[in-house]
Amino acid sequence: MKRKIAGMLLIVTLLILTGCAGGNEGTPVQSNQDEEGTPLKIVTSFYPMYIMALNITDGIPGVEVVNLTEPTTGCLHDYQLTPGDMVNLQDAQIMIVNGAGMESFLDKITENSSNMKMIDASKGLELLQNETDGESNPHLWVSISGAISQTKNIGQQLAESDPDRAALYLANTETYIEKLEQLRTKMHQTIDPLDNRDIVTFHEAFPYFAREFDLNIQAVIQREPGSEPSPGELTDTIQVVKASGAKVLFAEPQYGDTAAETIARETGAQLYYLDPAVTGPADKDAYLQIMEDNLQVLGEALQ
Ligand SMILES: [Zn+2]
Repeated sequence: MKRKIAGMLLIVTLLILTGCAGGNEGTPVQSNQDEEGTPLKIVTSFYPMYIMALNITDGIPGVEVVNLTEPTTGCLHDYQLTPGDMVNLQDAQIMIVNGAGMESFLDKITENSSNMKMIDASKGLELLQNETDGESNPHLWVSISGAISQTKNIGQQLAESDPDRAALYLANTETYIEKLEQLRTKMHQTIDPLDNRDIVTFHEAFPYFAREFDLNIQAVIQREPGSEPSPGELTDTIQVVKASGAKVLFAEPQYGDTAAETIARETGAQLYYLDPAVTGPADKDAYLQIMEDNLQVLGEALQ
């Protein structure tokens, strides 16, 4: 799919930015169309990309950012485009996607919107493989370093796509990266000295985060949302958690916690919630806040 995106970038680079007056379907959150400049509509595929785009386009006249999916949708692993999504995409000049296999519906979009520029936030980034199925893990943004790399990627590609506003995108990108770097330093200061580094998580969202902070993922209980473990898998997981001696489990606020509660009860492990930042408010500082909250939780759980 990567090659496909790259090929398409070449083809459409010269076709974009023809301008587009009016037609503000969806939920424009950031729009300053009173001032000069060709209006630009950017669609992001899901929440983490949306927050990065809000930061990179902050205060830039004429740029509107719309999130394709509801801010409550979460990860897009099995997401199917709706007719409403296709309408929303019709007048967009640029789409920002996570890439790395997160958006399995991309082929459909490129068939229908051949003159829309696609920005791949994971372009050129090193990906971890899932141990279970050998597929690339797309949850790069869950580590701060991954979020920094993706922000850089988006900022640079936006600047290339819209040269008139390039300096503004790049300045905003710098500002946001500085905030992310400060947060990363603060998280290291809290997490590095913790003695307990073993975590059990739900859904394959935390490998990048765990690598960044040298945490040890001992088991992943529910690989993706919507698939509760079978009774057999539950029994196996309880065995794994017991054998590992893990004292804490980290569930995610977005997903069902029945299995997590059962495992916590059966193993005596304490249940906490870590947020992979796949849902949240339409606020450019939301990712920073979510990670501050995660830091609080980790500090408490692993001390
Ligand atoms: Zn996911």
